[in-house]
Amino acid sequence: MNVELPREPAHSPFGGSVAARVLRCPASVGLVEKVPPHLRKVSAYADRGAALHAAITCLLAEDTHALVESLAGKTFGSYTITSDDIETALRPAYAHVEVLLDDASGAEYYLERRVIFPTIADTFGTCDLLIRIGRKIYVIDFKFGAGVRVLALSPDGDEDVLNSQLMFYAAAARHSLPEFFAGVDEIALTILQPMSIELDAEMVSSVAVTHAELDAFIAAYHSACEEALSDAPRLESGSWCRFCPARPICPAHTKPLLDLAAFTAPAPWGAAHAAPATPPPAKEAYLRLLAEGLNLVDAVKDIGVTLRDQAKRALQDGDDVPGYALSAGRAER
Ligand code: SF4
Repeated sequence: MNVELPREPAHSPFGGSVAARVLRCPASVGLVEKVPPHLRKVSAYADRGAALHAAITCLLAEDTHALVESLAGKTFGSYTITSDDIETALRPAYAHVEVLLDDASGAEYYLERRVIFPTIADTFGTCDLLIRIGRKIYVIDFKFGAGVRVLALSPDGDEDVLNSQLMFYAAAARHSLPEFFAGVDEIALTILQPMSIELDAEMVSSVAVTHAELDAFIAAYHSACEEALSDAPRLESGSWCRFCPARPICPAHTKPLLDLAAFTAPAPWGAAHAAPATPPPAKEAYLRLLAEGLNLVDAVKDIGVTLRDQAKRALQDGDDVPGYALSAGRAER
């Protein structure tokens, strides 16, 4: 059985999944707009993640254990669920949520709920799961990528930073569902990530936030989005670049190409024709130069990977990338 994945919702350049990037690098919004929409997904994990998302949504919509087994072999979009996916991802995530939904005091919930963010036009996102039990609400996000561990609260230098995507969803849900949030005095941001390359990683990462923290986030995000639309938004690279589709054209990442072009060796060591007044380059300086050259080559390699990734996706979608064709799953000349 093949299941068509839902189409991407209408474009929201400030949507929840990009909130961390927009807050840290407002200039990325304009750069990403230059990348054709179908090339903005950055890795092959995206297909698997989208399929597992769709599968867990099916499970929760039906709320039946029997369905868990039956998902092996089903194709969602272009990815077919394996028994390994069931054992390592779907079953543990479903088991965690089931405990909340079966809470004796009664749970109300929204699944895949579209929510509108306040104060910024055309800004929305989709919450994976919102559960209310008594006066507490859980804002739950499933992460099925294994490459990067995502936390509800992450250390950043001397500070702990709340996950921007979940703050976005919580703020937008509170704005969109005022009755659901009426009388709530506890809001838990929860990430369920059943698989991680860190073997001892916990599946659940959760943090409590206050209404005042949501208010502060709304103000901060509003101002970052205003900056993104201004004439000179801030361009700042960091960990948030990892999933930025603008990497192949971003000045912060293409700069090593210019530096490499300007890379020059010192005058020959001890050349007979060197003017006596010119001291020979010190060995340390030359070795430093080697290291700088290697750093530049590594940075340039990184650009190569992002260029190939987008070219491959374009070719897979039937686009013409002049001079390149798909060969063994790679974009080759
Ligand atoms: S790659 Fe990084 S620095 Fe460049 S636009 Fe994207 S987020 Fe900003």
